[in-house]
Amino acid sequence: MTTERIRIALQKSGRLAEDSLKLLKDCGLHVARSKDQLFCRIKELPIDVLLVRDDDIPNFVDSGICELGIVGENVFAEMKTGTENFSATVVERLGFSQCRLTIAVPENGAVKSVADLAGTTIATSYPHLLQAFLISHKITAKTLVMMGSVEVAPRLKIADAICDIVASGATLTANNLRELTTILNSQALLVR
Ligand code: ATP
Ligand code: ZN
Repeated sequence: MTTERIRIALQKSGRLAEDSLKLLKDCGLHVARSKDQLFCRIKELPIDVLLVRDDDIPNFVDSGICELGIVGENVFAEMKTGTENFSATVVERLGFSQCRLTIAVPENGAVKSVADLAGTTIATSYPHLLQAFLISHKITAKTLVMMGSVEVAPRLKIADAICDIVASGATLTANNLRELTTILNSQALLVR
């Protein structure tokens, strides 16, 4: 008899990793995990765990490489918004890794309101979600795509605003930025 195995993609290390593994453990599923392992088996059921970068999880699930995944709503929604015929769907909101995707601007700068974003340059790693927000507010602005350290863009004078993930807000404060508006509230999702 052959047993079909289910593959689930989890973040290898980072802000989703620990709580994702804990969730499986709380379900009675123990992951035999050794350091630098990409692939682990679960003892109790025919489930294989794939440990990857969070950014790869939406694609892995959408393309059928994995049946399930746990990923932040921010990453999932960006991929969904930017991919034609994207078919992965949300099974459940999991409540951990809460954060928000926010537009922030320099304290005491020229941009005081959302309407003031017209004609500005906004740095972000979430171009599709940002664009959807701008379109829904009938605002035309330039997007500067950056893969990291987005919060330094205004200080470098390469952008007037940023659109980035915020949890406590400490990074914004440290960079003299203030939140203008939240465009997405995010938490970990179980997706299929
Ligand atoms: P990877 O190496 O897998 O690409 P990463 O550096 O892109 O990881 P992390 O910083 O580990 O990502 O964040 C993973 C996810 O956790 C984010 O996409 C977001 O959903 C959520 N997150 C981000 N910052 C926080 C935070 N301060 N507190 C809780 N959750 C957060
Ligand atoms: Zn990532």
